[in-house]
Amino acid sequence: MTRTISILGATGSIGASTLDLIRRERDGWRVVALTANGNAADLARLAREFSAEVAVVADEANLPALRDMLAGSGIAAAGGASALVEAASRPADITVAAIVGCAGLAPCMAAIEQGRTVALANKEALVSAGDVMLAAVARHGATLLPVDSEHNAIFQCLAGNDPAHVRSITLTASGGPFRDWSADRLAAATPQQAVCHPNWQMGAKISVDSATMFNKGLELIEAHHLFPVGLGRLRIVVHPQSVVHSMVEYRDGSTLAQLGPSDMRVPIASCLAWPERMDTTCAPLDLAALGELTFRVPDEGRFPATRICRDAAQAGGAAAAVLNAANEVAVASFLDGKIGFTRIAAMVEEVMARYAPAAPAALGDVFAIDEEARRHARALLEFA
Ligand code: NAD
Ligand code: MG
Repeated sequence: MTRTISILGATGSIGASTLDLIRRERDGWRVVALTANGNAADLARLAREFSAEVAVVADEANLPALRDMLAGSGIAAAGGASALVEAASRPADITVAAIVGCAGLAPCMAAIEQGRTVALANKEALVSAGDVMLAAVARHGATLLPVDSEHNAIFQCLAGNDPAHVRSITLTASGGPFRDWSADRLAAATPQQAVCHPNWQMGAKISVDSATMFNKGLELIEAHHLFPVGLGRLRIVVHPQSVVHSMVEYRDGSTLAQLGPSDMRVPIASCLAWPERMDTTCAPLDLAALGELTFRVPDEGRFPATRICRDAAQAGGAAAAVLNAANEVAVASFLDGKIGFTRIAAMVEEVMARYAPAAPAALGDVFAIDEEARRHARALLEFA
């Protein structure tokens, strides 16, 4: 049986891992839409390889180049924000939402509105839109499958169990490349050091988020939405080996964990095949070779991000959307060399202190809050 698939953010790290799985089962899939921000050459190459129906660059300036490269292929080329949403609305059995940042929210919502399956990697979209996104999932009868390795692990550990029996859910965190750095060293950390993650090959933004621990904080908010067992039941533990991807403890004292190699193709495959399973070529887990797995409590003194995110989840309403927007601006500024590493968390807290709008009721409100929070963050940069 052939299934149809769209990949939003096809040229990124998650996009590449998804296409790698599809490449090995070419007959099982027909590719509908592939999208990228500006990388027309990579997108055109992938669109041709996978005979996509349509290829879309979000940045319209790259559309002429994309058109040239797809000339004669029969693949439609499009560009701009509305083309991205249109592509995400084209019928597909499964859409992999793998754009980075709140920029992926509109196309992700368009995919949800199809009422089919959305495999969500784009955590910023869920963090920003929260209840607005979940209401759309319910309204359109869509199935939301978590790609993020921790949430995919929790999803697997919850299968067949009543959430009412859950005592706690523990998200594991690698701790990032600066896990053992002193506060002084952290203050001088460079973008180049931040994007070198010890266990995972990822895009620049999530790599910086892993270094600050905002990634785990965003994941805490993500888990709070996906697995509503109550914030008080959500824990974080640092696990440097990234082998246990998360765990669920039940009221009888049983803890179920999902283990696997540090390779995103495993959780992506779990979503693509769900509720079945599919083969991957990922190296099998060799526990004896690993020798030991270690765990420790996160240090919120050096890495305040998880505390800031927990507070935002507790506050509810618009707090997480403001937090996410401020973090996106701060991370981009850090990568541009404009602010220091420890300024990222400070900036997020300052924006949240200055701007506390009412809860968004609809998608338009989320976009307005995101835009205004970015404006506050940029103003902080100017007067720094
Ligand atoms: P990446 O930077 O490698 O790729 C991002 C993709 O989004 C690219 O295709 C890029 O062209 C596109 N994109 C970027 N900005 C855009 C914009 N403004 N409009 C439209 N498209 C845009 O990122 P990634 O590491 O693949 O991460 C993607 C998402 O998945 C993020 O939300 C990240 O947090 C999440 N995620 C990633 C990993 C991982 O291992 N890489 C793991 C878990 C979750
Ligand atoms: Mg993760």
